[in-house]
Amino acid sequence: MTDLHRLSIRELSEGLAGAKFSSRELTEHYLKRIAKLDTQVKSYVTVTAEQALAQADAADAAIKAGTATALTGVPIAHKDIFCTQGIKTTAGSKMLDNFISPYDATVVAKGKAAGLVTLGKVNMDEFAMGSTSENPFYGATKNPWNLEHVPGGSSGGSAAVVAADLAPFSTGTDTGGSIRQPASFCGLTGLKPTYGRVSRFGMIAYASSMDQGGPMARSAEDCAYLMNVMAGHDAKDSTSIEKDVDDYVANLNGTAIQGLRIGIPKQYFNVAGLDADVKARVEESLKKLEEMGATLVEIDLNMTEAYVPTYYLIAPAEASSNLSRYDGVRYGYRAENPVDLMDLYKRSRSEGFGAEVQRRILIGTYALSAGYYDAYYVKAQKVRRLIQQDFLKAFESVDVIAAPAAPTTAYKIGANLSPVEMYLGDIYTIAVNLAGLPAINAPVGFDKDNLPVGLQLIGNYWSESQLLSVVHQYQQATDWHTKRAAIAEENA
Ligand code: GLN
Repeated sequence: MTDLHRLSIRELSEGLAGAKFSSRELTEHYLKRIAKLDTQVKSYVTVTAEQALAQADAADAAIKAGTATALTGVPIAHKDIFCTQGIKTTAGSKMLDNFISPYDATVVAKGKAAGLVTLGKVNMDEFAMGSTSENPFYGATKNPWNLEHVPGGSSGGSAAVVAADLAPFSTGTDTGGSIRQPASFCGLTGLKPTYGRVSRFGMIAYASSMDQGGPMARSAEDCAYLMNVMAGHDAKDSTSIEKDVDDYVANLNGTAIQGLRIGIPKQYFNVAGLDADVKARVEESLKKLEEMGATLVEIDLNMTEAYVPTYYLIAPAEASSNLSRYDGVRYGYRAENPVDLMDLYKRSRSEGFGAEVQRRILIGTYALSAGYYDAYYVKAQKVRRLIQQDFLKAFESVDVIAAPAAPTTAYKIGANLSPVEMYLGDIYTIAVNLAGLPAINAPVGFDKDNLPVGLQLIGNYWSESQLLSVVHQYQQATDWHTKRAAIAEENA
């Protein structure tokens, strides 16, 4: 078959179970596409062909033996922030360029247990800090819709592989929008789960109070399959919650949109810098949801102006603490010929980290230092609570909240936005992480340059099933999620 890459996860699952094709065939098909097309997209940092074929053969044996799960034999790409035993895990940094983890992240281990086949590890912004995946060490990943544009970030590789059909789905992480914004830029569906729903064990830390892994795929249904694997309590992560998981696939059908109250925050649609095409597509999608039975309710989220300053204090503060472990001694990059210990620390960190990571470490260390701690960090934590309360109040009168995922479509590669301009692009995503809420991006059309636009739906705690189900039903009635970039139409 030459069009295996066009099949949905459900079709792959059924095709494998029904022996229409084998996991080896499917895996070889993807490896061939990667070899041919990733020279242009540049999404993979590491392709694990040999291991993937061995996993595929094991999957085929399990299918024959009747011990397969729904996903046995289906290929996946992992963001290079998830530790993979025996395979390099870089987090997009020179600091970890030759780091081989002695263990698998829980998300990776669960994928293996479910029979998923790992195609490789994909590019990202360094340590997940950024919005473009223009990585200073591994190069820029391209947006499959237009190779002169970025795929977004930090999970840009995870988005690009799916949008170019170089993997059927992928894992991403979202600390301040890194699943939703690249999903939006690449025309995909991506879910950021409630904080604590997916284990962070073995997921390299950026800002621990906000980091959360989740699925990226073409549709809500595809994401639901991966959520069934990723979600759940993990004793190895103290922030993972002991709460039953839903069957996200079984819950997709139902009447999620009928009677759904969708909050439309006044402040969100007046943001300076909100692109007219993005606004128009998002409004059209809301109109469609209204036609399908939802009610649109105008709401206030009064803390909107505080999102960017609050996030950009708390995230760098946690980053400065988390990244202090990279000292050139225990693991990671080590500077050559240090004259003394201080020189070893200084040069290892100056040479091993890129500019944006160093900027965040400096801001975070400053905000945490004695004398400034109360004025910046403690204050930001108080504002964070107010932001959370703003959402909780809104959820008293609405079921979900609608927003763009990003104020613009994908930037041009090399646009070289100033840090502040770049940070302002996170306005619609970061409050969700500050509050620990779940949110989903769904593709809802294109701008005048044929770049995808995304609708974000923010849910109350633990509403992943509801979000997936709303988007699934929207996708049953529309076809934005079936559109393919030209490069995805190419055959290997
Ligand atoms: N762009 C945001 C940042 O740079 C979000 C990144 C993320 O979610 N990992 O912090």
